Amino acid sequence: MISISHRALERLAAASRIAVLTGAGISAESGVPTFRGAEGLWRKFRPEDLATPEAFARDPRLVWEWYQWRRELIASLSPNAGHLALVELEKRSDEFLLITQNVDGLHDKAGSKRTVKLHGDLWTLRCTGCSIEFEDRRAALPELPPRCRCGRLLRPAVVWFGEPLPRKAWERAVEAAARCDIFISAGTSGVVYPAASLPLIAKRAGAYLIEVNVESTALSHLADEVILGRAAAVLPKLVAQPSPAGRQDLATT
Ligand code: NAD
Repeated sequence: MISISHRALERLAAASRIAVLTGAGISAESGVPTFRGAEGLWRKFRPEDLATPEAFARDPRLVWEWYQWRRELIASLSPNAGHLALVELEKRSDEFLLITQNVDGLHDKAGSKRTVKLHGDLWTLRCTGCSIEFEDRRAALPELPPRCRCGRLLRPAVVWFGEPLPRKAWERAVEAAARCDIFISAGTSGVVYPAASLPLIAKRAGAYLIEVNVESTALSHLADEVILGRAAAVLPKLVAQPSPAGRQDLATT
């Protein structure tokens, strides 16, 4: 049973400015492993020990093998009802920004348009020498580590631990958080900064904060409404129009 207050549904229906932050949890039901779940482990390495500039400098092939594994895993996966609900929300909102920490491209695949990718994109490669960026959607790359035409190594155009976020993306995210009436945080543990500060920025600026997660997180104490449940089950209910009155107790599968 998913419990969503009538107030939250009403606030969402009345909001004209909406910002949404998504994390690995929204893609979990599409089959993408989260970092912090046990299923997120790959050959006993912690993501924090692979997704770093130091790891890439030390062993680019190992880091690329991990990314290749993730690309192969994700290539055949489809967006779920949570991704699709956010496309609906975007369509009916005047001002909307979907801020994602995910690098899997599933929001794009679902049809989201007004998005900011805070942590980059697994399907874009960047040269460590000439900095050229280009999309390469092949699940398996023929050579690991791949090289640029200029001869230098290519890397995934994602933000690694210890690296700054892309400036423009971050500025757009902060602006949307500071302006929105409603901020929804879905499927994120709230421990990866600076992304985790966005709900706080929104809250301080007066937004109504809704969290969707299967468990309490570091952000739960800030939220006006914590909805416990799977993003793929909760978001479609949340985005549906409000019922006449009272608290909605929604049976889900
Ligand atoms: P995280 O792994 O730290 O946390 C995932 C959160 O999702 C947890 O709080 C968990 O309780 C919740 N969750 C799990 N299943 C859920 C479901 N079905 N519905 C709702 N919530 C669910 O992920 P994070 O907060 O995004 O931060 C970790 C970093 O990992 C980010 O930088 C992100 O870029 C990266 N990452 C991305 C992907 C991806 O692109 N899909 C996958 C793994 C990690």
